[in-house]
Amino acid sequence: MACDFGIKHYREILETGLKRGYQFAGFDNLASVPRGQKACVIRHDVDYMPEWSIRFGKIENDLGIRATYFFQICAKTYNLREAPIYKTVHELVRLGHTVGLHFDATWKENMDWSEMAEACREDKKVFQAITGIEPCEMISFHNTHRFADRVLNQDIPGMRHAYEKAFFSDIKYISDSQGWYEGCMCKLFDTRKYERFQFLTHPYIWPDKSAGDFISDIARLIQYRCNELTDYFVRFHPVCKKNEARLREELRELQSGKQKGHAPHDKHPV
Ligand SMILES: [Zn+2]
Ligand SMILES: [Zn+2]
Repeated sequence: MACDFGIKHYREILETGLKRGYQFAGFDNLASVPRGQKACVIRHDVDYMPEWSIRFGKIENDLGIRATYFFQICAKTYNLREAPIYKTVHELVRLGHTVGLHFDATWKENMDWSEMAEACREDKKVFQAITGIEPCEMISFHNTHRFADRVLNQDIPGMRHAYEKAFFSDIKYISDSQGWYEGCMCKLFDTRKYERFQFLTHPYIWPDKSAGDFISDIARLIQYRCNELTDYFVRFHPVCKKNEARLREELRELQSGKQKGHAPHDKHPV
């Protein structure tokens, strides 16, 4: 079994956990797992590639595991109302998973921390209005390092969140965001070293097939989104559609660094 960040290995990680006696629980029922029973809560924070969440959701469903998926409502890179993303959220619920709000607390400058619970409540309403699905009580904060002292192991009045002590310092917290820092998760399951985990992944880190290197995988991801945007213009913008060959040629030139000398305000090519 080769350890990498390919989706195939994600399945192997969970299979190892099951084989080694871990019970998979949600944030809502971890506390009721009897002491002595090894347990793991799976959390997915969705930042860039929401449609890739389905790969995780299907694998978990296959293995009888429920996970919690947290989505942003105002991500720079996606919105929940876009048809494929809307479908993704509904499909995850259909597969038996829980969905919740991934909250970016940095959108408003100088927000007073006492406003946080209310801001989360408001965003949950937006989540529900957009998707037609009520998000779970638990919230996951995006980019927590920017306000770690406010969140890690802290109770926040009026809301529940995934960095409360019971899900952070009281158990083993493992995230894929900087690569594994204690060896691959499959090894941690295999050695049964820890009784309880919060296991956090970010679906964008796990492509269908990993190139075996984080930066190579991210370069491919960005290229994929660029191609999608190009196709979108060609499909829906009449001028781009008419000039598709030239648009694609110029994109190739820009990417290879051989720019022609068009001034930015050249005549509109109608
Ligand atoms: Zn592994
Ligand atoms: Zn995030």
